[in-house]
Amino acid sequence: MISVHPVPILSDNYAWLLRDAPSGAVAIVDPAEAGPVIAAIEAAGGRLDLILLTHHHADHVAGTDAVRARFGARVAGARADAHRLPALDLALAEGDRLALGAAQARVLETPGHTRGHIAFFFDTPAILICGDTLFSLGCGRLLEGTAAEMFASLRKFAALPAETLVCCGHEYTASNARFARHADPDNAALAAYAETVRHRRAAGQATVPSRLADELACNPFLRAADVATLADLRARKDRF
Ligand code: ZN
Ligand code: FE
Repeated sequence: MISVHPVPILSDNYAWLLRDAPSGAVAIVDPAEAGPVIAAIEAAGGRLDLILLTHHHADHVAGTDAVRARFGARVAGARADAHRLPALDLALAEGDRLALGAAQARVLETPGHTRGHIAFFFDTPAILICGDTLFSLGCGRLLEGTAAEMFASLRKFAALPAETLVCCGHEYTASNARFARHADPDNAALAAYAETVRHRRAAGQATVPSRLADELACNPFLRAADVATLADLRARKDRF
């Protein structure tokens, strides 16, 4: 049984602390800033087994070597991007599985934001670690990939259980909500969810993890019916 907590780092990034209660095994996702990540791991008991990397951008990987040096954890990331990630102990591809204590994660290749982007899906309970592929009410910019690749990546997420907790790489939800309301003005579920987001931010709370069910009801990028619709949305969001 895994618990998951966001660790706010940099200006609007989240590292994610995952802990398997029965074994005490701990993983950290995308430790781009060593100080607050090390403090969070110490507060959770000072044990670290795994460092999971979603993609090569500095705002996701920059603290990796400092965190590894402190705790001696194994580093897991995409085999396809091994040449531009910190040194990997586990080089991963689609369908690979990795263990965190008694829990298991499945690796999903999710290109679009970057070519070698990967996501991790834990199924007890359902937790999706999706980096900069899917955001709450948004999706990542197409910096290296195509709209067709991003569409296929988002389809993989849409097929996961509705109760899945979506753990993304940034607190972008409030600004994403403004574009989503503009793009899908008649969506009542989105209007209500945007209010929830506004209240959480006003109270200084994180808006993530979100629930996949809410993203499926409210996120225009996840709801796009085809590649052309997604490409159009992404282009309009880039200019919004
Ligand atoms: Zn990125
Ligand atoms: Fe990022």
